[in-house]
Amino acid sequence: MPIITRTADSVESEDWRQVLSESFRRPADLLNWLGLPAAGLPGGSDDQPDFPMLVPRPYARRMEARPDDPLLLQVLPLTEEKREQPGFITDPLAEDSANTTPGIIHKYHGRVLLLAASGCAVNCRYCFRRHFPYADNRLSRAQWQQALDYVRRDNSISEIILSGGDPLMLQDADLQQLIDHCQAIPHVRRLRIHTRLPVVIPQRLTPALTAMLAATRLQVSMVLHINHPRELSDDHRRPLKSLAAAGITLLNQSVLLAQINNNISVLSELSERLFEFGILPYYLHLLDRVKGAHHFDVPESEAIALHQELQTLLPGYLVPKLAREVAGLPNKAMIHLDRD
Ligand code: SF4
Repeated sequence: MPIITRTADSVESEDWRQVLSESFRRPADLLNWLGLPAAGLPGGSDDQPDFPMLVPRPYARRMEARPDDPLLLQVLPLTEEKREQPGFITDPLAEDSANTTPGIIHKYHGRVLLLAASGCAVNCRYCFRRHFPYADNRLSRAQWQQALDYVRRDNSISEIILSGGDPLMLQDADLQQLIDHCQAIPHVRRLRIHTRLPVVIPQRLTPALTAMLAATRLQVSMVLHINHPRELSDDHRRPLKSLAAAGITLLNQSVLLAQINNNISVLSELSERLFEFGILPYYLHLLDRVKGAHHFDVPESEAIALHQELQTLLPGYLVPKLAREVAGLPNKAMIHLDRD
């Protein structure tokens, strides 16, 4: 096998699908490219067939060549994931029971999650949907209609949240078609796109995508999932500015993760950097207790202490709400509320 070096791919395609196809899929290749010996990482494991490694190169390029790099640890499969841990289960949010119509998760009043795509551009090791039965939710055209009919029939639904997987994995033509269907439902007012794809492949934020989102009658927000300040690069500046200029509201939600961002200087720098890029910090989530992710868990007492310290350092609009999803609750549970 050819040795892959960090300079070999310095010329990167502008086509996000091409960039995605060149992602790292084997821990050994990524570690080799970073110049890290596999032996230096406790259990860097290839053997994760249910949730294999997937790391696009623009994301890998933002890593530092050290075994405790917080970007690396978010995506590198470790044998630790296989250790059973009481309380960490395959469906921590009981989404199966809210998934009554294929492709739809209706947990909260007034808004539904539409599982627009089953894949992602990166496999985050802490993902609460790492065991989600995507195969059962890969929609045929007829099922798409059923999912949209569900929204049509319930006029209390004013917001459609495109989720997944990652909804920006859809080709533009399919995304356009979906948006057209959504905006044709009179009681739907808002469209929210939850995505991490542009974080790992900035090339996904094309002028065509911006134009598509700007053209709909729906109010559009994009919620990016950024956990560390180094996940934003200069490549993000221009496209994010274009989205904001087109009237798209940019928000961020992070997950509080041990060894990644459970540190006051990282969290405050994350908020500062998000704002510098035109993104408002929105939620800081406690980890959903999904099987295989126990090593990312941060105790609630530590989370509250970090959040309180964050409030002393930053203006209120840069302090994300500390929240946890609780299965069966009609809303997220706020862990700490008081702020000017
Ligand atoms: S991008 Fe989101 S849905 Fe996909 S693996 Fe990462 S956390 Fe999970």
